Amino acid sequence: MLTGSYDVGLVLVSLLMAMLASYTALDMAGRVAAARDRAAAWWLAGGSVAMGVGIWSMHFLGMLAFRLPIAMGYDPSITLLSLLIAIASSLFALWIVCQAALSWSRLAAGAVIMGAGVCSMHYTGMAAMRMSPPIRYDPLLFVLSVVIAVVASGAALWIAFHLRQGMLGVRRLRMAAAVVMGGAIAGMHYTGMAAARFPANSHCIMAESGVSTGWLALLITIFAVSVLSIALIASVLDLRMEQRTAMLASGLADAKQELQFLALHDSLTRLPNRTLLNDRLDQEIQNARREQTRFSVLCMDVDGFRQINDAWGHPVGDQLLVEVARRIRSVIRSRDTLARLGGDEFVVLADVREPGDAVSLAEKLLTAIREPAHIEGHELHVSLSIGIALCDGFEQPGDLLRNADTAMNHAMALGHNGYVFFESSMSGDAQKQLQLLHDLRQAQERGELVLHYQPKFNAGDGAIVGVEALLRWNRHGLGLVPPGDFIPLAEKAGLIFQIGHWVLDEACRQMRAWRDAGHTEWSISVNLSALQFNHAGLIDMVRDVLRRHALEPRYLTLEITESTAMRDAGTSLLILEQLHAMGVNISIDDFGTGYSSLMYLKRLPASELKIDRGFVRDLTHDTEDAAIIAAIVALGRTLNLKIVAEGVETREQQEFLTRLGCNSLQGFLLGRPLPAGQFIEAVTGQSHAAAWDSLQLPA
Ligand code: C2E
Ligand code: MG
Ligand code: MG
Repeated sequence: MLTGSYDVGLVLVSLLMAMLASYTALDMAGRVAAARDRAAAWWLAGGSVAMGVGIWSMHFLGMLAFRLPIAMGYDPSITLLSLLIAIASSLFALWIVCQAALSWSRLAAGAVIMGAGVCSMHYTGMAAMRMSPPIRYDPLLFVLSVVIAVVASGAALWIAFHLRQGMLGVRRLRMAAAVVMGGAIAGMHYTGMAAARFPANSHCIMAESGVSTGWLALLITIFAVSVLSIALIASVLDLRMEQRTAMLASGLADAKQELQFLALHDSLTRLPNRTLLNDRLDQEIQNARREQTRFSVLCMDVDGFRQINDAWGHPVGDQLLVEVARRIRSVIRSRDTLARLGGDEFVVLADVREPGDAVSLAEKLLTAIREPAHIEGHELHVSLSIGIALCDGFEQPGDLLRNADTAMNHAMALGHNGYVFFESSMSGDAQKQLQLLHDLRQAQERGELVLHYQPKFNAGDGAIVGVEALLRWNRHGLGLVPPGDFIPLAEKAGLIFQIGHWVLDEACRQMRAWRDAGHTEWSISVNLSALQFNHAGLIDMVRDVLRRHALEPRYLTLEITESTAMRDAGTSLLILEQLHAMGVNISIDDFGTGYSSLMYLKRLPASELKIDRGFVRDLTHDTEDAAIIAAIVALGRTLNLKIVAEGVETREQQEFLTRLGCNSLQGFLLGRPLPAGQFIEAVTGQSHAAAWDSLQLPA
């Protein structure tokens, strides 16, 4: 019997090769599992070649490490066959671990087939030595080698299957598993080698090939390491690409989620928007009907928001809305819905069944919003107007919202900072108001606002001394709407500032044109509402408009009513003084209808008092009115104010007022308010002087 020996260096190299091949196999299993369709097929093919070459070269190196005291050689075709067997078993193994599931029976079958494959590779490889007489095998060790091959294959399949997903720390687990697997493969090989018995007279038929064992080992090592390295590098690159794709995909998924969110939510407050609200409203209504219960819809508008937005800008307004939303949220219950319908309008669907409970909820909301908000260094005060509609499950979502909205508009009309329950009697009235408001918002864009001009005459000689600009709304299909019918609404809705700005601008533009046409003795009067008068931007707006039209301030008169001027006399005085300092004239309109404090009147930098129409109307019959006018005239003289009488409709009134000492007259008798074109025709075409010629004035 020939006794063989081992080259320890080559044994170690073969062991390392077994581990490297195992690691590659595990890695390839991960790639095949992650890839799809064609890519998976390529990884399966490439992976089994790499793995087969790895296992085979381990085995061949192990054979090269074995030395017999006779010359040795290997049959190339049988060696090649052993390589093909290695690749085929690898292919089968990879295929098994890449299936969706690995049942115990499949694992067992796989272990047996793969174990058989590894054994046949090994013993075919041994046969390549072509020993004569043939190698004999120790039956016990032979069986042991087969058992080791089957058990090691089973373990390898199980580990590869469970490590194929790219979980956390999978690389380290794979390395550990590769060491165990490599050890098992080498164990099978060396057990198989130990089973081999070489009779004493053995000689190797292939010994003449003459390739030195050392060179062969080096070549095989280089070849196998190259194949395995290429496979591993390709695998790392592929993994990177997969991770990048996964990152991109998750980025896309996030973006999609955000888009879906934004379709149903308001981007500023991240509250549900109208679409989502309608959906929830539908559900609540169905729920109420099914369970025979009720719930409440609260529509809320933030009073004073528009003014804050105008005065401090949108960033502050936005933060205020977020704060308001936060406070409402803190009051309602978590299962209640809070939505924002754009602007400063919020809606709550509350699980509140009784009117009494709705009242306490509304009161809690009012209290929460009333607290001043501190934003960017401003202390902001706002309140809520709340409209409440109760639903018992038989309303349409649209009607319900409209009812709550109508009630809210009533709350606003009642002076804000309060709540109103919807009543069916509100509908028609509120509907009209809403339509009016809706149209008014568009009036300016559509160019439906126009100015009419009414002349103001010198009482003594009838010369035109001024022109009052009076606003009209040429409402789409409904004719001219007088200012009294829409200015209060414009004030309530905060539209008065932009409308007032347009009026001032248009009036000054017209005045500039008339002055250029030679009417240098006229001045223009523009009415200001109380809200406009108190607006922080008034002074700048007036200055800007005058500058834009190159109009000297003394040709502009601003009319404010007596009640506006006296409401907060201290503040009014400050504003009027600034306007006066600029050179603009101030006229106190509708004088006699309010309560003037003589103290303040004395200090007001006004230049004109306009006696209210009401005193002029019955002047000739009512001695009391005559006495009042006489008193106003006397007051005006003392305070050095010009007195204008408005609403002069008859010759008697004209005569009387002139005799009482009024400086200027205005009224239908002398000139009606007319659009600019007709106005010029009227005042230049006819001779107003005629009206004065026939007057019997006192000498
Ligand atoms: P006001 O400033 O006292 O304007 C005079 C009103 O009396 C005008 O009514 C005018 O058409 C009317 N009137 C003039 N002469 C006579 C007359 O002989 N008899 C009668 N019965 N009425 C006469 P109008 O244009 O309807 O304006 C009503 C009020 O609306 C104005 O009173 C003014 O306070 C306000 N207003 C008008 N235009 C504007 C505006 O541009 N801005 C603001 N804020 N208010 C305006
Ligand atoms: Mg006026
Ligand atoms: Mg007036």
